[in-house]
Amino acid sequence: MHHFTYQEGRLHAEQVGLAEIAREVGTPAYVYSQATLTRHFQAFARAFSGLDALVCYAVKANTNRAIVSLFASLGGGADIVSGGELHRALAAGVAPSRIVYSGVGKGEAEMAAALKAGILLFNLESPQEMEVLDQVAGVLGVKAPVSIRVNPDVDAQTHPKITTGLAKNKFGMDMATAFAQYQAAAKLPHLEIKGVSCHIGSQLTDVRPFADALERLAGLVERLAGSGIRPGILDLGGGLGITYNQEQPPQPDDYAGALKQTVSRLGMRLVLEPGRVLVGNAGILLTRVLYTKRTPVKRFLVVDAAMNDLIRPSFYDSYHAIWAERQRPGLETAVADVVGPICETGDFLARDRELPRLERGDLLAVMSAGAYGFAMSSNYNSRPRVAEVLVNGRRWAVVRDRETYEDLCRGESLPPWMD
Ligand SMILES: *Cc1c(COP(=O)(O)O)cnc(C)c1O
Repeated sequence: MHHFTYQEGRLHAEQVGLAEIAREVGTPAYVYSQATLTRHFQAFARAFSGLDALVCYAVKANTNRAIVSLFASLGGGADIVSGGELHRALAAGVAPSRIVYSGVGKGEAEMAAALKAGILLFNLESPQEMEVLDQVAGVLGVKAPVSIRVNPDVDAQTHPKITTGLAKNKFGMDMATAFAQYQAAAKLPHLEIKGVSCHIGSQLTDVRPFADALERLAGLVERLAGSGIRPGILDLGGGLGITYNQEQPPQPDDYAGALKQTVSRLGMRLVLEPGRVLVGNAGILLTRVLYTKRTPVKRFLVVDAAMNDLIRPSFYDSYHAIWAERQRPGLETAVADVVGPICETGDFLARDRELPRLERGDLLAVMSAGAYGFAMSSNYNSRPRVAEVLVNGRRWAVVRDRETYEDLCRGESLPPWMD
């Protein structure tokens, strides 16, 4: 469900015409719908009502300050994976007591910053990281609140690049290691055991892997209790999928329903780290057709957005629906590739897609681009990163300026011997 709809044949974000945004801020631009973001957050949070649950938005999915602030104002926390995301979350007004910190490679300075801020939980991913955090906390004279991220070895049945809970993945610790490391953590002076965590992957379209992972974690929690260790927090990560094309992912209620019984039985405080499901369908990438091109074997729509703006199609083979801004009933369709200006064959937004016969100057919306869209964008081919716009009813605002050419070169200099 989202609020991008045709009104009198023109595509709108809530009550604002996308043509108006294109005119004012140019293209390409990301456009987000606040009503959609709010609705997704509330539906997700409501699904877990009745449990002691904290929704920590996975900031990496979309780091825009307006979005992180919106979720904070709705009662959300943040799941962060770097010192930069800690900075962003705090700047956006997320309470430190609602921040959880995941990731296999936390640096000492990043750990120290998070300890000073007073975050809720560190999800530890290796024995060595655990020792380093103990030392960093010792230097600061504090105790670090920790959880071990368990790798439950369940198959999330998603794209290989976004599955994280298989034994061969770099994430977390296997069950036996996790159990041993909880015993070790209990003996370290500057750690306080607070939780048990997992995160098995992204864009999951079935509740089974979540339920399987929870069962394995529950087994660990019970074994830990037998050894006198009773973590109070159960962090089940993120990963709930969305509809890009024909997928039928579980609704938040189904997802919560599959977990509730076990969580209640354990009597722990639940932490969830949803990213994509909150923001994915709340954003589009607005782009303009630069050229239509026909070769002997193919048709191309060359648009002004490219893989540096939205890398998901080339990186994950992802499908994004493409909608024309203007509906023209009766217009012939044709199969075409939608490609960008970048000098890479991998630069495409859609392949072999049946689309209306669009013309130079027409606007397109690349749908479901709110998650891992702008956040994964780069300056490749010296393309300034695009503007981000937030729509709220009839109002809209630029929430990140389009970069300038000066921005592109910031920080570069010649070495003294070339002066
Ligand atoms: C990426 C990530 C998430 C969010 O995943 P989604 O699929 O966007 O919900 C949550 N937790 C951790 C540890 C992550 O790395």
